[in-house]
Amino acid sequence: MKIRKISASYIFSANTGFLKNGILSLCEDNRVLKLTDTGGKLTEEANLEHYNGILCPGFVNAHCHLELSHMLGKIPRNQELQGFIESVIPGRKADAEEIQKAISKADKQMREEGIVAVGDICNNPDSFAVKSSSRIHYHSFIEVLGTSEVSAERAFRNGQNLVQLARQKFSLNASITPHSAYGLSESLFTLIREEKSSSDTMFSIHNQESGAENDLVSTASGKLFDTLSKLGFDLSSKTPQHKNSLPWLMEQLPRDIRLLLVHNLYTSEMDIRNSEAENADIYWVMCPKSNFYIGGRVPDDVLLKRFPDRICVGTDSLASNDKLSMLEELYVLQNAHPEIPLKELLTWSSLNGAKALGVDKWFGSFEPGKKSGVLLIENADIQNLRLKKESRVKVLA
Ligand SMILES: [Zn+2]
Repeated sequence: MKIRKISASYIFSANTGFLKNGILSLCEDNRVLKLTDTGGKLTEEANLEHYNGILCPGFVNAHCHLELSHMLGKIPRNQELQGFIESVIPGRKADAEEIQKAISKADKQMREEGIVAVGDICNNPDSFAVKSSSRIHYHSFIEVLGTSEVSAERAFRNGQNLVQLARQKFSLNASITPHSAYGLSESLFTLIREEKSSSDTMFSIHNQESGAENDLVSTASGKLFDTLSKLGFDLSSKTPQHKNSLPWLMEQLPRDIRLLLVHNLYTSEMDIRNSEAENADIYWVMCPKSNFYIGGRVPDDVLLKRFPDRICVGTDSLASNDKLSMLEELYVLQNAHPEIPLKELLTWSSLNGAKALGVDKWFGSFEPGKKSGVLLIENADIQNLRLKKESRVKVLA
């Protein structure tokens, strides 16, 4: 067996932390054989590749919508969530060839940016073909959405059919997920709860991306309520719940399922405590660049500090981002919260994401047997272990 040995200024893996001048040994098929701590000693060996920079496992992008890739640059910034939704819904329509080209380009960009696994939201089959032949591991979350009580059954069956199509025709990992607290009727939540099958192990749900989402659930009014009504959503069955959207959402969900809650910009202390009591298996997914694009705000540090083992990072889609780059997301988080060490940022973008998507057996760290991908972060501040604006990812394996 031919073994590839790679060394770098530092090697990072979530289970070991930073190893100065460590050596990563890979099998011929890029599986991790071992990670050696040299005690910082620079070793010279025949066939040892050495790099200046930080080696880390491939990134796991916990939230994306590949099917919206053709919307790059089409949605104005800073419209807040309701303005974004108002632009996205009509803007989704495009020429089929244009959509496929954009999806294919976005998949390639993610590979070049060192992304090895993605939690990808789907409302239609547009992204299935590209994903089925991609080197990236995708989990397709088939999103169900619909506020009308009378069309709940239809919305749910459509979702189930899409899951079957993704699994059977495209051999994708796929499962159903509710869109958000505000986007579904109670009947639709009931169907999701009652028909949950053993293959539904996780949901990925948009959560409290906007203050108007809390208003909609709490008071059955507000900016998001008005926009959705204007767009033709039937909100006639929504009544004031006198609580934020997350506690209401938790009441609608089964308890025995892993949750990836995405965005969490307007999650209060009480919401956090309430959701923890309801479900012990929650991952908090942050999409800082998308948040900044839509609402000019990035996640504050409450969740980041409280649940470092449960934070993941996502790029969201090219409708609200200019690039699908995890390193750029980490750089934005580092700038917003300089006290967060790089070891946490890299853990969030690798092992935590892999755990959230249930793929940590293969991805997320340099543990023997994993085929996690190997990235070199160049142009980082090696002395202080910080990212710089000019830091870049190079895929080594
Ligand atoms: Zn999203």
